[in-house]
Amino acid sequence: MSATWEMICGLEVHVQLATRSKLFCSCATDGFGASPNSRICPVCTGQPGVLPVLNDGATKLAVKAALALGCEIREESIFARKNYFYPDLPKAYQISQYEKPLAENGSLAVAVKDAPSKTVGLQRIHIEEDAGKLLHAIGSEDLDYSLVDFNRAGIPLVEIVSKPDIRSPHEAYAYLQALKEILQFAGVSHCDMEKGEMRVDANISMRRAGEPFGTRVEIKNLNSFKAVRDALDYEGRRQIAALEKGERIIQETRLWDADVQATAPMRTKEEAHDYRYFPDPDLPPLHAPRSLVEAMRRELPELPEARRRRFIEDYGLSVSIANVLTGSRELADYVDAVAEITNPATATPTAGNLIATVLLGFLSERSLDLSRVIGRVTPESLGKLTLLIADGRISKTMSKEILAEMLNSGRDPEEILKERGGGQVLDEAQLAQWVRAAIDQSPKAVADVKSGKERAIGAIVGAAMKLSQGKANPTILNKLIKEELAP
Ligand SMILES: [Zn+2]
Repeated sequence: MSATWEMICGLEVHVQLATRSKLFCSCATDGFGASPNSRICPVCTGQPGVLPVLNDGATKLAVKAALALGCEIREESIFARKNYFYPDLPKAYQISQYEKPLAENGSLAVAVKDAPSKTVGLQRIHIEEDAGKLLHAIGSEDLDYSLVDFNRAGIPLVEIVSKPDIRSPHEAYAYLQALKEILQFAGVSHCDMEKGEMRVDANISMRRAGEPFGTRVEIKNLNSFKAVRDALDYEGRRQIAALEKGERIIQETRLWDADVQATAPMRTKEEAHDYRYFPDPDLPPLHAPRSLVEAMRRELPELPEARRRRFIEDYGLSVSIANVLTGSRELADYVDAVAEITNPATATPTAGNLIATVLLGFLSERSLDLSRVIGRVTPESLGKLTLLIADGRISKTMSKEILAEMLNSGRDPEEILKERGGGQVLDEAQLAQWVRAAIDQSPKAVADVKSGKERAIGAIVGAAMKLSQGKANPTILNKLIKEELAP
């Protein structure tokens, strides 16, 4: 992107709250993949005469989200009707919040690779219901039709609206990752994008540095972080090209087509007044009293940023390993459980490395989820394996082999080690025999070492290691050889 142009981007993220029932009725929220219209009732299909009743659990989760994101929470917020016609919304309005949303003025720390972390401001968080889903069945030319599935209608969402603080497609990507992480840690949402539990609309304009904001374009319904990054990248270039030709940018809504990697106009952007928002007369104001807010604050677990800091300070993990190990709450909990076994803390960095590099490497190689593996490689057994390395009883190479075996069979590392002949030999008398034999076999290396070429010692260590069939402890071998050859 040209150096003189700057991207101005704000994101609106719809996140499904992890409740078991819908926002205003008792229908279940597990309708993904279920048969169409199997999770519906008169309320969520908008039949005349029904009344919505607010799901208390949704309010609690929304308050938690607002707290985790550092927002101010309004004690009394208002549900409003957002009016529009759409076939997947039979009421012809969506219950949302407009003038008085639940929460405002939060912030999120975003770490972009190789750049200092920056803070993206959050404008507001409000609660709203989801609409249904249209299934377009396009048959022959005279038989095009669409079907509607209301299983999603009335699913509780929070919409999290950022300030226009995002400056590049990579920042947008990092923002979404940080947001997903924090919401998952807080237990607010599963954020499963394949199930549509997190969807993104992006607002973007370009300006020359220092100039006022330009006309913004909205890109709607992006359902992966990659789609957001690619769409912003494309749209930024498109706008620059137009502006440099002296064209005006039209305020409009565009759609991202991943197949052709381009955005295309969908409709001119509606203004807020097109929706004729007004307070919903069927719903009383939403109360989030201080007592509720404080109760939710107490329920919040340690969030990713605090956890990363603790992993670095208490466990002695490197920044990059700590970042990997706080990638999900489940993984971070696993690390904490392993650390209980590997105390004193001296062995915990070894455990961290083992999990971040070897274990996660195996999982991605074999396309396994951590949750499916924890039963086999329990924190206890991984802790034991770590202690075997820390005590010098097995080499790192051997630990990999044992871990692979643990993944396959779920067996105990000590047991596997015993079967393999007991691991590394630490006994100095035994090691000294191999050292003397290796010295006899390597006259040239011995001469080199004696003439001051210290590196030649590697050849003698190698010979001794071969004699031991790979079981000798290399550190002790090294020490013994040096002693043997000392003048
Ligand atoms: Zn319902």
